[in-house]
Amino acid sequence: MDARIAQLEILNEVARIATLDLELRPMLQRITDALARKFDWEFVALITIDEKRETFVCQAVTTAVATDIHAGYMRSLGSGIVGQVAATGKPVLVDDVRTFPNYIETMEGARSELCVPVHHHGRLVAVLNLESTRLAAFRNKLSLLETVADQLAGAIASAQLIDALRATQSQLEQKTRDLEAANEHLATAIETLHRISTQDGLTGVANRRHFDETLAVEWRRAARSRAALSLLMIDIDYFKRFNDASGHQAGDDCLRRVARCVQDAVHRAADLVARYGGEEFAVLLPDTDAERAIHVAETIRSRVESLNLEHPDAPCGHVTISIGLATAVPPRDGANMGDFIRCADSALYDAKRTGRNKVAS
Ligand code: GH3
Ligand code: MG
Ligand code: MG
Repeated sequence: MDARIAQLEILNEVARIATLDLELRPMLQRITDALARKFDWEFVALITIDEKRETFVCQAVTTAVATDIHAGYMRSLGSGIVGQVAATGKPVLVDDVRTFPNYIETMEGARSELCVPVHHHGRLVAVLNLESTRLAAFRNKLSLLETVADQLAGAIASAQLIDALRATQSQLEQKTRDLEAANEHLATAIETLHRISTQDGLTGVANRRHFDETLAVEWRRAARSRAALSLLMIDIDYFKRFNDASGHQAGDDCLRRVARCVQDAVHRAADLVARYGGEEFAVLLPDTDAERAIHVAETIRSRVESLNLEHPDAPCGHVTISIGLATAVPPRDGANMGDFIRCADSALYDAKRTGRNKVAS
């Protein structure tokens, strides 16, 4: 075949392969395949340079003879003929490898070799390497190979860019996944923190801090809407004796069961059951008048009584509670919240004084 026609054809084919938008290795493989086929060369390889690791890496090889070289094969810059071209950026043509001082044999019976740099805007992006078992097989081929190398340069540079972009993108995706996991973790932590800061550890109902905050909010809301707000103060009867008779562990258990019982007895979303102190609970009932609050209080009292928790040292033999109740329509100026609590407290005191296990207001 006319050498110039083959030359034009290969340039055309390289240009066509370059438009296929392939990743680096598959693209280079097609090019080494095309070159080997077109010129009937025994060994064609394309090598890139890893400057950070000071090595060159074979990306694609097409060979008709046994060789150590494969895609992924790497060696340090400067070693052998390819290493020399990779290090210097200058082409090397060797008619007889046995006369080349820096020759490293990777193909048995290799005799001649041509190795040309591929530059893109002055930067060395690859090395094109030909080997043959015949002496001087590449004499006069340098300018052809340099032309091919020129044609390759842009395609290799953009494929490398695409590979780098893909790597960056997958790193970015990993970072996004990491971030999502961290966010989830954080959301769980915030939720846990919120629960810890608003719940009573022993009984699971609201804690004193949450009660105080909620009371302030509901007090203002009731003042704005002119609605009645009710408060129940609940205290377990003879609880010191219960502890003394049954032990602290049983006392804690009793607190948990009473708390659950009170919680189960209120139903509205805005109703709040809180542990107010030791064996005292508070129930806040927004938008609830005295009549309905008495009903709720009585329900709670009788439910606790019906739990029938044994109390070895109570007159009636089981655990009961006393409840003090206060209802107010808060004044608009927001004052008197303290009086409201004192009012429920003193009603509780009355319930205790007049025999316990009762509701007073
Ligand atoms: P009263 O009927 O007048 O309310 O008498 P009481 O014994 O219940 O009242 P007092 O205030 O004398 O005693 C409250 C007891 O509650 C004393 C304390 O040991 C107990 N107590 C407070 N907090 C806890 C707790 O977290 N666990 C247990 N087991 N006991 C508690
Ligand atoms: Mg008490
Ligand atoms: Mg008590």
